[in-house]
Amino acid sequence: MHTLRASKYGLSIKQLPPSIVEVIDALTKAGYDAYIVGGGVRDLMLGLHPKDFDAVTNATPAQVKEVFGRRCRIIGRRFELAHVYVGRDLIEVATFRAPPKKAVTSAQGMILRDNNWGTIEQDFARRDFSINAMYYQPRKDQILDFCNAIQDIKKKTLRLLGDPALRFEEDPVRMLRTLRFAAKLNFSIAPEILKIFTPEMTQLLRDVSPHRLYDESQKLFTMGHLQRVLPLLIDFGIWKQLFAEARPQVNAFIELAAKNTDQRIQVGKTINPAFFYAVLLWEKFLERCNDYLSKGLVPAEARAQASLDVLKRQSTRTVIPRFAETFIREVWEMQTRLLNPKPQQIQALAGHARFRAGFDFLLLREKSGDKTTEGMGTWWDVYQNLSNDEKEKAIAQYNRSRAKKRRSAATLVEETETPTEMTPLVVEREGRRSRSPSRQRNEKQTTRVDAVVSTTSNLDASHPILKRKRVQRDLTQVVFGPTQ
Ligand code: ATP
Ligand code: MG
Repeated sequence: MHTLRASKYGLSIKQLPPSIVEVIDALTKAGYDAYIVGGGVRDLMLGLHPKDFDAVTNATPAQVKEVFGRRCRIIGRRFELAHVYVGRDLIEVATFRAPPKKAVTSAQGMILRDNNWGTIEQDFARRDFSINAMYYQPRKDQILDFCNAIQDIKKKTLRLLGDPALRFEEDPVRMLRTLRFAAKLNFSIAPEILKIFTPEMTQLLRDVSPHRLYDESQKLFTMGHLQRVLPLLIDFGIWKQLFAEARPQVNAFIELAAKNTDQRIQVGKTINPAFFYAVLLWEKFLERCNDYLSKGLVPAEARAQASLDVLKRQSTRTVIPRFAETFIREVWEMQTRLLNPKPQQIQALAGHARFRAGFDFLLLREKSGDKTTEGMGTWWDVYQNLSNDEKEKAIAQYNRSRAKKRRSAATLVEETETPTEMTPLVVEREGRRSRSPSRQRNEKQTTRVDAVVSTTSNLDASHPILKRKRVQRDLTQVVFGPTQ
């Protein structure tokens, strides 16, 4: 074990937020050992801005609670931790862990329960990468380095502690972490890891809870190096596991969305990780929509059903939380609204809570060469920056060109659309099965069309209405719920 002088490596207590210093000090004062560990120390060493600082101590979670009282909550079952609230900050305080007992690992060697307290030496050996296993005591200006991690920092190498195959078997999520850190830090992966990081090894991810995989996928999407990590995810076969795709490919839309996400993070803009999920699943959603359309469902129902199917299928790999699922469905539904808005709705659409995300999505599609957006991404882009007068003119002009387009490709179904009412973007899957307004309207619409058709038996055979394909809807397949 080497004890390094922290200041020699550019670390100082002044760089730390007061909250982590307060936690370390309070634990030390109560007679415990306490260190900053993990990504915080690593990032400071590399001159990066740490996302957060984690603390580790020889106090058990119950003892940490004694020190901090009501400011502390014990969380987790598989991995028990103390959460300490200091002002607005939340500091995670873990207890030194010893190797897990045999009884709590799965048949594949995966650790199921991990609450066996131990010494700092045991704790260090349980960490994933050497560069994540440095312990920093800011008051003593000391870094404890048990594995010559400092060499790996200098050589920019990711090295797993212990036998790589065993470490991946213990916790397959470490495969995702390997690629995340390689991309984030621009480090190379040690040859002994590359040797065992095979497609067979990635199969182990099937045993990991889809909730945990969602969390990890979020970290991959939001670290600011999506563009760098995407090819790695594909090359190492991780993508296949996360998205159940036989031959994964990064298309122009995904590539552009990844670039855009990274740029947003770089300039400090917020990002919604569900947005990237919406991008990734977009093509699957369109395919599914087409399946339903070819089965005779009307477009709105095809879209609703397709989005439910795609998200349900994805949840077998990564469980997207309900609010994020709703967001994704709304962004997809916005595509239809923004593509062909009714002129009376343009203003309301621009003020809709999901407008921004829907518009960004549309523009990215357009910029990546998707011709089906018909230039509407640019139209909305321009529209938003106009004065109120100019907006009115733009809407009038849009109305004229829309009417012209519709005259040339008019169908009676379109003519009978109800004019101005805004319907909710998505209807929830479960809950009361009340008749939603859109369903009632669709039924009314069909009746009106039927009435017109019944009076047209003496029309010329070339009349568009007689060429119109009658849509057979299977309403038993469509689930309606309360709107939100
Ligand atoms: P960042 O927070 O920048 O994403 P990090 O290294 O801090 O990176 P965390 O997930 O916050 O990552 O974990 C904190 C520390 O806990 C890690 O640095 C590592 O020492 C340890 N750790 C986390 N996950 C694992 C794991 N799956 N196996 C072994 N050790 C882990
Ligand atoms: Mg961290």
